[in-house]
Amino acid sequence: MVSSYLLKDGQYFDHNKGEFINGDIFIIDGKISLNEPSPKEKMEVINCREKFIVPSFFDCHVHLNWSGSSNPIDDTIKDGPLGAIIRAYRNSMKSLASGITNLVDVGSFNDVAVNLAGMINRGVIFGPDILAAGRILCITGGHGAGMGYEINGPVEALSATRTLIKKGADLIKIAATSGAYGDTGAEKLESYQMNEDEIRAVTSEAHKFFIKVTAHALNPVGIHNALINGVDVIQHGAFLNKEDATFMFKNNRSLVPTLYVYRKLAQGGPGVMGKAVEKSRMVVENHNEAFATAMKAGVNIASGTDAGSPNLGDHPTLIEEVITMQEIGMSEADCIRAMTINAARAFGVQDSYGSIENGKKANLVLLGSNPLESVHNLYDVKSIIKSGRFLQKNDILSSII
Ligand SMILES: [Zn+2]
Repeated sequence: MVSSYLLKDGQYFDHNKGEFINGDIFIIDGKISLNEPSPKEKMEVINCREKFIVPSFFDCHVHLNWSGSSNPIDDTIKDGPLGAIIRAYRNSMKSLASGITNLVDVGSFNDVAVNLAGMINRGVIFGPDILAAGRILCITGGHGAGMGYEINGPVEALSATRTLIKKGADLIKIAATSGAYGDTGAEKLESYQMNEDEIRAVTSEAHKFFIKVTAHALNPVGIHNALINGVDVIQHGAFLNKEDATFMFKNNRSLVPTLYVYRKLAQGGPGVMGKAVEKSRMVVENHNEAFATAMKAGVNIASGTDAGSPNLGDHPTLIEEVITMQEIGMSEADCIRAMTINAARAFGVQDSYGSIENGKKANLVLLGSNPLESVHNLYDVKSIIKSGRFLQKNDILSSII
């Protein structure tokens, strides 16, 4: 049962001002109210003195059925097709325990992420809110081929898009270019993969149903092709140039830079594919500049990690990503916006999520120290509130592992 709460004497993050302001927050029927309800409701009072209240976090790029080990594909084979959904659930709950109430899964085996998202939505199980792309769309032998639909030509692109929408995908993910990880002849860092007419077939169909399209895109031609053919959110964008960044700003497109994952992959290690390490190093060399270009152009930047990817480590990895963004020039306030309101805007859910405003879902994190002083304080999670329900980090963790 959802109860009513008064979060008393705390400071909460005002996303417009980019600072904490003093004020009480009321939680009624799982929603935020900044005004005292009348008539007065019976509510539980939570003392929030010395707490910093922020909207709960988004990770806009995860792979819930991947482990983040040096070779997640090996782990997936060991898990088996039925174990995949259990791992996905475990990873989603580990994310929730660190304050991430919203996940965007941009590629899973079979229909794992779509089914898990649906079960949480229908109230079969409790978990974070997941927007799931289901299987990635790529060309034959393209990036993500092992777990995606390989499409060739606009007719197949249209057909696969319709299949994903039929299955309940919340968004569509395409591979516009090759990736750092991948070993086929098509996985060349300098090559784009999906053709313009194929991209257009996907975006026009998805947009018909008000579904967003996000693209894995590293090199400049692939980024440009994705943008001019209607892709809403660019993932990685490692070689984003000034012209395309300006186009993104003017046309309300978003960037999920995923900086940390390429740094981790570039470090290499036992069991990590040599070619992937090499390609990641080239990505890292350009990534900071592309990120700075996007910031300068005013692009809506949202936080995402590629959680579960090779060599990244166990889920979640969001704060490591945010620390990286801060280290290469993003202000602390903008880092919090990237994890909250910008992420909600990127995926069109800003009416319900991403800021502390009247009527929005009561998805909040109570921090013990001020994240504007240091983004490392984002680790200092005292409680998580999801849809008005209070959760403790250790309770969640002890229930799953
Ligand atoms: Zn990914």
